[in-house]
Amino acid sequence: MATLIVTGGSRGIGAAVARLGAQRGYAVAVNYASNAAAAEATVRAIHDAGGVAEAFQGDVAAEADVCALFEAAERLGPLAALVNSAGIVGPYGRLDEADVDGLRRTVEINVMGSILCCREAVKRLSTRHGGTGGAIVNLGSMAAELGSPGEFVTYAASKGAIDSLTIGLAREVAKEGVRVNAVRPGLIDTDIQMIPGVGSRLDKFATSPPIGRPGTAEETAEAILWLLSDAASYVTGAVLNVSGGR
Ligand code: NAP
Repeated sequence: MATLIVTGGSRGIGAAVARLGAQRGYAVAVNYASNAAAAEATVRAIHDAGGVAEAFQGDVAAEADVCALFEAAERLGPLAALVNSAGIVGPYGRLDEADVDGLRRTVEINVMGSILCCREAVKRLSTRHGGTGGAIVNLGSMAAELGSPGEFVTYAASKGAIDSLTIGLAREVAKEGVRVNAVRPGLIDTDIQMIPGVGSRLDKFATSPPIGRPGTAEETAEAILWLLSDAASYVTGAVLNVSGGR
């Protein structure tokens, strides 16, 4: 079976991508960092619906974990697709009040994590390496454009890097059968919106998207699965806003 690796597949957008990906016929490798129960719940939902999935713990910021994830996922079948959904917002508040460890971790997970996973995916998918092609979708953010002042400018910067990674890598491997695109969610109703000690950003910004409401993980997953599919065969290097007009 064609395998889809979803980093951060235990919760939120990644979990919705894992479930929809399984429905579309992929065997899904559900990666997670620490929430084994959430990862198992995603896998169970896929099994209950007749799909194929397995959970794989691994920190995307750690090269050894990423290599181990890609090797282990091969037992599900040859890699066909990667969705880089693992991400954190990092320290909340002004930059001049943020601790360096939190800032580093944000960049390491959001940027290095996606870069390392893209590297491992290209090694397997690219015709240059004997692969048969495939597709990658990276999770950017509207924060890359909005900048998120007073909240998390480092997160916004890390997501700007995702836009550049997507455009550059797409052009690098375009003739090798690999398409690389990004989805930039706006305000999506997931755990990431709950800021410890501050509260829910959903409560604060619920009506700010022009469409008048936050989006769902499932709505975001639909866009991602389209970009992975053959229906998007001429789409590469695209950065698609899934933001209700934000
Ligand atoms: P979420 O509900 O908080 O889920 C985050 C996921 O990332 C979890 O599965 C978590 O695993 C995983 N993760 C965190 N650190 C990791 C690490 N070091 N290694 C592997 N996995 C790790 O977040 P979400 O809303 O689904 O966000 C998914 C992506 O969309 C992120 O890249 C985020 O920046 C982006 N995004 C989201 C929104 C939004 O409004 N929700 C908007 C713009 C962009 P555990 O369960 O083990 O903790």
